[in-house]
Amino acid sequence: MLDLSLTKEQTELQERVREFVDERVLPVAKENDENHYVDVGIIEGMAEMGLLGATIPPKYGGLGLDFVSLAIIAEEIERGDAAFRTLLSVHLGLNSMSLLKFGSGMQKQKYLAPQAKGSVLACFGLTEPEAGSDVASMRSTARKDSDGSYILNGHKRWIGYATMAGHLLVFAKTDPEAAHKGISAFILEQDMDGITTRDIPNKLGLWSSSTGEIFMQDVRVPEENRLGEEGEGFKIAMYSIDMGRFTVASGALGTIKACLDLSVERAKKRRTFGQEIGRYQLVQDMIAKMVLNYETSRLLVLQDAWLKNEGRRDTREVSLAKWHATESAFAAANDALQIHGNAGYSDEESPVGRYFRNARAPIIYEGTTQIHKMMQAEHALGYRHLNGRSPATKKEIIS
Ligand SMILES: Cc1cc2nc3c(=O)[nH]c(=O)nc-3n(C[C@H](O)[C@H](O)[C@H](O)COP(=O)(O)OP(=O)(O)OC[C@H]3O[C@@H](n4cnc5c(N)ncnc54)[C@H](O)[C@@H]3O)c2cc1C
Repeated sequence: MLDLSLTKEQTELQERVREFVDERVLPVAKENDENHYVDVGIIEGMAEMGLLGATIPPKYGGLGLDFVSLAIIAEEIERGDAAFRTLLSVHLGLNSMSLLKFGSGMQKQKYLAPQAKGSVLACFGLTEPEAGSDVASMRSTARKDSDGSYILNGHKRWIGYATMAGHLLVFAKTDPEAAHKGISAFILEQDMDGITTRDIPNKLGLWSSSTGEIFMQDVRVPEENRLGEEGEGFKIAMYSIDMGRFTVASGALGTIKACLDLSVERAKKRRTFGQEIGRYQLVQDMIAKMVLNYETSRLLVLQDAWLKNEGRRDTREVSLAKWHATESAFAAANDALQIHGNAGYSDEESPVGRYFRNARAPIIYEGTTQIHKMMQAEHALGYRHLNGRSPATKKEIIS
């Protein structure tokens, strides 16, 4: 039986997070954005509610929620300010979920538990100046020393919350000659010798969020801080990204919803040529597309949440959800701006400009739109097998 209704617990969670966003996030979103201010009070509020450990089991200090609940949280938080959904993506989606899956007992106690409570923030350092979509071309290295520890050198760039994170999950080549099979993952601490971080200035959007760089110079990392086996880094990164993409797709729903609500309000208020602009079919066309894209994005997110809840591989489905939802969010923000006319072009009169700026990054990070298109086409063509399965066949779609 297909039942898409929320449970009582999920509805209550939605109400709680919605209230938090309406009372704590939205009233200061404009001011925080203008001041390029990362509002630690809001992050503390999210931590107090357990949101930073939403899907981590209670034995490690999390709430132990399912993925529909995580989707609800990400949507509501991004409806308020994408800066904090970005934190949810890097801290919980990309970092903590990977520690839960691949971490040793020690790593879960020492690193995952404080992350789940939100007492320490965590980031995910994969991208480098010369390695974005092409992860295997990374240049960071991890050389094993005679005492078993690793010496890390390299530069990670465009890393969400790099300067604020106490724990950094970074990837480096333990075998520089072997492409993706030579990558390993390491848990670093911000105050380890040889690590420096800095924020990237003058970003196009996400002004109230932190995005930075990590410089590693002869950072000595104990062997016990390697996540997974040597050479397993690429596999771990791909798992992390399947988790991160889910939060990005879910968050995009919040942008579409906010843009739809703002557009409806404006279209009923603004009058031209003797009637409200909502009466014009060309304006209705933009609003109708937001409605359709919200619903289709939500269905893709829920389909993926179901797969994740079942513990099944979802690389194909999460890629579809992320691609469609983030493109839909950017289109919704663009159309919302159009419906607002000049009132949308300044933050003084409407927040649609902020949604527009913030909706641009998600179609670059966690797989650009082109990478998702390539994945889907190559799977359909049989050139690659996502989820370890053959391309979608009639049988697979029906079963
Ligand atoms: C705001 C922000 C936050 C980020 N946060 C993080 C983070 O927390 N951690 C992290 O590790 N990274 C992060 N990133 C980095 C992000 O993941 C990369 O920017 C992304 O993977 C793309 O890499 P690139 O920018 O180097 O583009 P490139 O890989 O250089 O691509 C450039 C262009 O070429 C296209 N292209 C590349 N290869 C192909 C191909 N095979 N076929 C077709 N087209 C192709 C791309 O689609 C794109 O249009 C963040 C980026 C941004 C903007």
